Amino acid sequence: MKNKTVTIVGAGPGGLATAMQLAQAGCDVTLVERRDRVGGRTSAIEIDGFRFDCGPTFFLYPRVLSEIFASTGRDLMDEVPMERLDPQYRLTFGGGGQLDCCPDMDEMDRQIANFAPADVGQLRKYMDANRLKLEKFRPILESPFSSPLDLLRRDVLAAASKLHPFRSLGKELERYFSDPRLVIAFAFQAKYLGMSPFNCPSLFSILSFLEYEHGVFHPIGGCSRVSERMAEIAQEMGVKIRLDEPVESIEIEDGRLTAVRTAENRYASDAFVINADFADWMSKMVPDDLRRRWTDKELAKKKFSCSTFMLYLGIDGLYEDLPHHSIHISETYDQNLRDIESDHVLSTDPSVYVQNACVTDPTLAPPGSSTLYILVPVTHQHENVDWSVEADAFREKTLDQLAEIGLGDVRERIRVEHRITPDDWQNGYSIYKGATFNLAHNLGQMLHRRPNNRFEELDGVYLVGGGTHPGSGLPVIYESSRISSRLLLEDLGIPTDFLDAAKT
Ligand SMILES: Cc1cc2nc3c(=O)[nH]c(=O)nc-3n(C[C@H](O)[C@H](O)[C@H](O)COP(=O)(O)OP(=O)(O)OC[C@H]3O[C@@H](n4cnc5c(N)ncnc54)[C@H](O)[C@@H]3O)c2cc1C
Repeated sequence: MKNKTVTIVGAGPGGLATAMQLAQAGCDVTLVERRDRVGGRTSAIEIDGFRFDCGPTFFLYPRVLSEIFASTGRDLMDEVPMERLDPQYRLTFGGGGQLDCCPDMDEMDRQIANFAPADVGQLRKYMDANRLKLEKFRPILESPFSSPLDLLRRDVLAAASKLHPFRSLGKELERYFSDPRLVIAFAFQAKYLGMSPFNCPSLFSILSFLEYEHGVFHPIGGCSRVSERMAEIAQEMGVKIRLDEPVESIEIEDGRLTAVRTAENRYASDAFVINADFADWMSKMVPDDLRRRWTDKELAKKKFSCSTFMLYLGIDGLYEDLPHHSIHISETYDQNLRDIESDHVLSTDPSVYVQNACVTDPTLAPPGSSTLYILVPVTHQHENVDWSVEADAFREKTLDQLAEIGLGDVRERIRVEHRITPDDWQNGYSIYKGATFNLAHNLGQMLHRRPNNRFEELDGVYLVGGGTHPGSGLPVIYESSRISSRLLLEDLGIPTDFLDAAKT
């Protein structure tokens, strides 16, 4: 019997993980990517011998991708060697204070004793509660949601009492820590979803738990190396990867997607997987009158995540005393969050994240030099901010902020520099509103209310990536690929036991 054919649009982490799983199931897979490289937001930026991760730098919870690799007969840690970081990161607070966050609970308590003595011992309680929460939440993360009836599933009802869906993450942390800096230390991870901790549902307290319990990893070569290795493996498994081929139009017959077209080719297949940014792709590709739930008007009304202003600097020498990851929390953090999420203006005192990866991984820069990756959360595209006017001044503001973490001399040491603004995310990376973490993760846009894995508006289409369930962030993006691969294979009548066999 002829193998079923599948076309995947987009070689981001979601598309690549899907390609591996569908090839393992025996499908004839073609992956079509608009850019000249794989990885999407998890690709590499290479300039004059310096190699930067474009987006993700925190590789968390390797369990999901390890299971996906195992389902194709491979070992993730052999394929992409990784180091668990200790400390995970340094937090500095504009209002004073510093924490080197690490998995050793005694060491954390020692630091907390200097910092906020009343809160000693609370971290352990927080970890215990979240261990239980993750156990309850896992079935929800690992299965599709397509209707409100799914909320009545036994696993969902069992989890409901632990998830406190209407409490914010910030409020949840205040139940454990009296010092506001500690609240931030375990809630700022909401920024991984592009949200303020005070608007983000409390169930996302599992993010900081995952860091402490399961580790923050650095894949050697960067997170982009994970994408590259996945593409190599997919090709070894027979997947055809077509780079530099943007899908420009689609063909629909009787509500079913039948083919996608690039300038060079037409790809017809039994099923399609869309990994491109959901809102960008829908609004450009699927005629508005064929959409009921996700019309252009409805999309425009949705809440989107924040964006990021990025600097990638190749510098002389290495900042040896600066840890791999540093996060500087602005003294006016509440205002900073409001600027980003509700006022849509640029902050005068922004929080900044810096990755100094060469302290762990010298392969990323020529001898005698190193890389700095700088990320500033900012509003997604909004009429209040004209980046063609603001970008240069904001670069200076960002470099000034680096003095707060001891990089006062950075300007003199810059050898190469690359910049990405929200406009670049939109225009160069095809991300709707430049909202780098997709649709926001408020309750109204999660579970069955997020675009469904088996796309509800077009037959034969399955979604993977940060725009569908479970959401944005590498572990859940990989999970989306497993959920959607399973649905697709079941619909085509292909066994999926290999996916279950690899679960731990
Ligand atoms: C700055 C930044 C930092 C981040 N940090 C982290 C982190 O530390 N840890 C973490 O877990 N997550 C992080 N994320 C979030 C998330 O993990 C990444 O954004 C991830 O790459 C998203 O994966 P994806 O599969 O949704 O698709 P993407 O990476 O967006 O890939 C989609 C692909 O589709 C392609 N495409 C689009 N349109 C077309 C078309 N018409 N035809 C063909 N191809 C098309 C794109 O070119 C792209 O290659 C970060 C994101 C950003 C932007």
